[in-house]
Amino acid sequence: MSEHYSFFGAVEKSFDKAAKFTKWDPGILEQIKACNAVYRMRFPIKKDNGSIEVIEAYRVQHSHHKTPCKGGIRFAAEVNQDEVMALAALMTYKCAIVNVPFGGGKGGIKIDPRKYSAYELEKITRRYTSELIKKKFIGPGTDVPAPDYGTGEREMGWILDTYTAMNPGEIDAAGCVTGKPVSQGGVRGRREATGLGVFFGLREVCNIPDVMEKLALPVGVEGKRVVVQGLGNVGYHSAKFFQNAGAKVIGLAEFEGSIYNEEGLDIDAVFTHRKTTGSILNFPGAKNLETNTAALELDCDILIPAALENVINGENAPRVKAKIIGEAANGPLTPEADEIFAKKGILVVPDMYLNAGGVTVSYFEWLKNLSHVRYGRMEKRFNENMNTHILNQIESLTGKKVSDKEKGYIQHGADEVDLVYSGLEETMITATHEIMNEWKANPAIPDMRTAAYVVAVNKVATSYAELGIFP
Ligand code: NAD
Repeated sequence: MSEHYSFFGAVEKSFDKAAKFTKWDPGILEQIKACNAVYRMRFPIKKDNGSIEVIEAYRVQHSHHKTPCKGGIRFAAEVNQDEVMALAALMTYKCAIVNVPFGGGKGGIKIDPRKYSAYELEKITRRYTSELIKKKFIGPGTDVPAPDYGTGEREMGWILDTYTAMNPGEIDAAGCVTGKPVSQGGVRGRREATGLGVFFGLREVCNIPDVMEKLALPVGVEGKRVVVQGLGNVGYHSAKFFQNAGAKVIGLAEFEGSIYNEEGLDIDAVFTHRKTTGSILNFPGAKNLETNTAALELDCDILIPAALENVINGENAPRVKAKIIGEAANGPLTPEADEIFAKKGILVVPDMYLNAGGVTVSYFEWLKNLSHVRYGRMEKRFNENMNTHILNQIESLTGKKVSDKEKGYIQHGADEVDLVYSGLEETMITATHEIMNEWKANPAIPDMRTAAYVVAVNKVATSYAELGIFP
């Protein structure tokens, strides 16, 4: 990766590549591309040892064609303005693709969270939230953060608590952030949502016969050989859902190195091994690979980078042997890698569609917060009673008995998690076909990423036109 590599530049490059396949006025395209608002802040915190540290942080609102803006907050030592702008732009396109009515946003704090105590992290998160409140860069109707790399439910809980403390009586305050613990207004299924979305998206792609034929792969997920980079929230859950569906996760990469086992790795066992030993290396039955990037070059059907951006670039892309690359992380491939894969006939399933499960379920969480009621609460019991009644009628009319197992399945009324999973499944399947249909309709479109951008640009531009901003 070059020193001066611009992630936002790469997003703009992909955008321009797609814009050629649309009919929009250059001025509209310019407006869609631009980051509307960039807030760069610095604030001090007192560390546990009494020293003062000045923290650098950002919040970017890329587009206001729909409000609120939406996007995660990242804690990482590499955070910079260019990166946050790129991630905010990806959020705009991502939301458009999966029909989530938000503009793109993103936040970042330039810290390595492993170097701070929980108390220090809490102070940083709360101060960051106060700064956002001061400038009205957070709120259920303006800008709604969520977890990203290095953050999770705990940080979202601190954000909520700070926001509600400073906005007493605001009835929809819980909608100021998503990815919260369920006890704090979170929605069941949010934790695994991005990984589940990655699985639903790739499964749908694997179920399209002509796509699989071109890659010389059998249709379906079962038996597919999968490699995952990053065993964090997104990587762990993606790997887990693939394993549950009968695929074999043959390789895993983490910070400290990579491991490989052709027979498949048990994800939970590797996770526990890492927790107890501090490393994925030396996992029983698996072979240690030399570096943490070695797994990316393993021969496999599906490679899922789920850590950070730019991990596959012009240097290592020629050695990648996967047939499908599912971008679970944001921006794991550089444009140079994209070109190499397009030439090699490797299918790249792009980030801004594939990892949209998180924002989709965040949208469900936000709706839950605004409606102040758990999904399924009103209809679950009613549906169960009705299903029981119908079953009884069928049994008495036919004189046949339905097995207990089937009965349990048919009678079951949907819980919150059932509704969230099915809403996500529907969203990912619909998005897959919208992108594939765009690609089919215009064979000059070179790859799936460009097709996804075309879909996104058309939706955002239409939205501007409908607002009357660009008649
Ligand atoms: P996370 O912090 O939970 O996990 C990231 C994991 O990657 C960690 O275990 C880390 O040790 C590992 N890692 C870091 N560098 C590595 C390297 N060089 N090689 C191998 N492993 C490495 O973060 P996450 O929430 O899972 O996010 C991962 C990616 O997915 C990011 O690009 C993020 O923007 C994207 N994403 C996350 C969400 C979400 O809901 N959390 C939604 C959409 C996209």
